[in-house]
Amino acid sequence: MTDKTSANTPNNAVADPSTAFTDEELAYHEAGHAVVHRLTGGTISRVSIDRGDPARGVHIREVSPSPSGGVDESSARLRIAVLMAGEVALFLHSGERRTVPDSRDRDDALRAARSAGADDATARAMINEEWDRVRERLREAATWKKVERLAAALVQHRALDGANVHELIDKAGS
Ligand SMILES: [Zn+2]
Repeated sequence: MTDKTSANTPNNAVADPSTAFTDEELAYHEAGHAVVHRLTGGTISRVSIDRGDPARGVHIREVSPSPSGGVDESSARLRIAVLMAGEVALFLHSGERRTVPDSRDRDDALRAARSAGADDATARAMINEEWDRVRERLREAATWKKVERLAAALVQHRALDGANVHELIDKAGS
């Protein structure tokens, strides 16, 4: 998930690190986030892999924090799982552990763990555990089919609105 990107860099700019990734790789990364978010009951408003798009990434409806400012561990783990799902999906697709440029996924995952009261060592352990759990989940044939279907649609259309994303995820594999 990327909430920000470098501002309006031309698509062919050498300086843009996202050119080190193919459209397909970016699509698998974002599809991973979207599928895990959706399968854990989340709502998606838009997904984009367009490098010229300041709103590239997956956009979700954020869960508002509890009045105390903290979150319980299960909510934090859910958020960590969604945040790690991009990296995991790209790993399952390409066999490499790579993070897409501008990604704040790991930073956000650490923050989510700390918001549930985890210290750094516990936070890292939670992230590793969720990484493995997400990998097992995405490796299920029916789930992976959803990722593939969404990634293919992203490569073709560059950006999809929430209704299209939900339709692709909810139908695929069934
Ligand atoms: Zn991401």
